[in-house]
Amino acid sequence: MNLDPQMTLERCETLMLDMDGTILDLAFDNYIWKSLVPRRYAAANGMTFEAAREHLFEQYSAIQGDLEWYCLDHWNERLGIDVVKIHHDVTHRIGYLPGALDFLRNVHQSDVRVLLVTNSHPDTLDLKDAVTGLADYFDGIHSSHTYGHAKESQSFWKALQDDVGFDVETTLFVDDSQPVLQSAQKFGVEMLVTVTRPDTSEPTKQGSEFRGVEGVKDLLPRTS
Ligand SMILES: [Mg+2]
Repeated sequence: MNLDPQMTLERCETLMLDMDGTILDLAFDNYIWKSLVPRRYAAANGMTFEAAREHLFEQYSAIQGDLEWYCLDHWNERLGIDVVKIHHDVTHRIGYLPGALDFLRNVHQSDVRVLLVTNSHPDTLDLKDAVTGLADYFDGIHSSHTYGHAKESQSFWKALQDDVGFDVETTLFVDDSQPVLQSAQKFGVEMLVTVTRPDTSEPTKQGSEFRGVEGVKDLLPRTS
């Protein structure tokens, strides 16, 4: 459906929001996985930072899109460093994207059913909720780990629909991941919007096949 992103919010009955890169700043996750983990891995294995990064990026890309990618215990075992502790050490870096908290307060007060739909592992989700209190603004929290399939998979969408019952015609789904949006599109979700600035430490992304907003705040009708 080729709607102006601001029209989609008016049209929808169910609003599904991704967490990292949609509500919360992806700068936290990128800092951990691209800087901190390689630094600790390099120190633990007597390697240079560059060599550790190259080695780790190969491992990341091998399982990207799989549920294992999002499981910290998996990385603890696989890398032999305490990835859970690394997360806890830098929780002060967890934060909302600009305008996202105001957006959540706004939609929470509306008639729209607001669901968090995330690939984040429940442990990471709990950690981020403890810092931000984001769970207060949702009518339901759904981690793909509960269903055993990542959002990139059609099995996820089938399981979510069986669980919460949503109408693909009146559901608006917002996510910063193109493979995830493509998966939702394949399932039939009609209103899809991408976030073009999921990480405030990086420039705006261009070239998505989906309608984009810089941040979820831009889904609200302009007041002026
Ligand atoms: Mg995301």
